[in-house]
Amino acid sequence: MPLDTDSLIARIDSMRDDLIALTQDLIRIPTLNPPGECYREICDYLDTRLTRHGFDTQLIRAHGAPGDSDRYPRWNVLARKEGHHPGECVHFNSHTDVVELGHGWTFDPFGGEISDGKIYGRGACDMKGGLAASIIAAEAFIAEYPDFHGAIEISGTADEESGGYGGVAFLAERGFFAPERVQHVIIPEPLHKDRICLGHRGGWWAEIETFGEIAHGSMPFLGDCAVRHMGAVLDKFESDLYPAMASRRTDMPVVPEGARQSTMNINSIHGGQPEQPKDYTGLPAHCVPDSCRIVIDRRYLAEESHAEVSGEVEGLLNDLSAQRENFRYEMRELNHVAPSMTDRAAPVVTTVDRAIQDILGKSPDYVASPGTYDQKHIDRIGKLRNCIAYGPGILEMAHKPDEYIGIDDMVDSAKVMAHSLTQLLLPQANGPENGQ
Ligand SMILES: [Zn+2]
Repeated sequence: MPLDTDSLIARIDSMRDDLIALTQDLIRIPTLNPPGECYREICDYLDTRLTRHGFDTQLIRAHGAPGDSDRYPRWNVLARKEGHHPGECVHFNSHTDVVELGHGWTFDPFGGEISDGKIYGRGACDMKGGLAASIIAAEAFIAEYPDFHGAIEISGTADEESGGYGGVAFLAERGFFAPERVQHVIIPEPLHKDRICLGHRGGWWAEIETFGEIAHGSMPFLGDCAVRHMGAVLDKFESDLYPAMASRRTDMPVVPEGARQSTMNINSIHGGQPEQPKDYTGLPAHCVPDSCRIVIDRRYLAEESHAEVSGEVEGLLNDLSAQRENFRYEMRELNHVAPSMTDRAAPVVTTVDRAIQDILGKSPDYVASPGTYDQKHIDRIGKLRNCIAYGPGILEMAHKPDEYIGIDDMVDSAKVMAHSLTQLLLPQANGPENGQ
């Protein structure tokens, strides 16, 4: 006899109004990042709620992290509920920050208004709805099975939208995601209620500068034009680098399809005299530019390495140094994030897979993210590989005007999360006496 979860599922249905109110409350705390508003307020709110439900909580400020200041302190909340028997710990991690509003809103972005079965607001899907769903899932599970094994943790962390250094990275560096402390991590990012996100591509960001020599613009032969040197770099990218990247396909299930190969964006280019303010009415001076800079954003695959990716660009620049007269450059790495990819056989993956089948009656789709999210810190710093993103909401709604979360989606994914807890924290759910 498999475990009967009917009353757990019914309990979550009965908590629907609570889930809605919780999501609205979270949306109404305007945790805009940057600059990092209201982190303390949202942590206090979560602290009060989770303490009331028997969790032990800690508020942790990321002192000294990028962005942390007395005006904008980076507060994180971590709540833990111990079971009554030894066992494993399941951790739900959500970021509490939201991005700027942008234009085009027809709903109050911090109102939490409900219309047509959806709750609207900045952060509704990314990811306060997922945070609320995980809280309801944990509370329902604890109420239904107070005698559970192991532990449940819920964290609300800062700064995911700006790299996570004041949030998950800070906690991971202090051992909060160490494998002896936490065994399973679910990040309820808006990946759709029937998809499991295994990880993300890597990212490598660098600045390249070419050099020349300033001279009068009427006699460019007396100087050396750094912009023309950069033109040669861009030509090299077009002729060599882009075709090479396009030929590399990954086995990672990255969505959308266009991101299933190596990609590179050129974020910016600046050469010669700085641009003047829009109200400047004078004409430019005539100078040969002696410097030109670009910033590149290279996203790479699990099949590539950091050294290969940076070495490939450096190799092309060195070719130009050999081929092109007076070509001089400098390259500076700005940031690097390794790819992260959880194995499909990892316990958290197979558990959530089965829960999706049981609750939604279909097999999940497996995906990987084109960009990075906090899994990078849990993997690299925490050394914890049993981590996925799974949560309600439509990824394409993230960061858009009139962002919303579907109430039914939240309820369904709360059921999937609670069902997963029964598999991971109740030995009777899959013990030998049940013939599993
Ligand atoms: Zn997010």
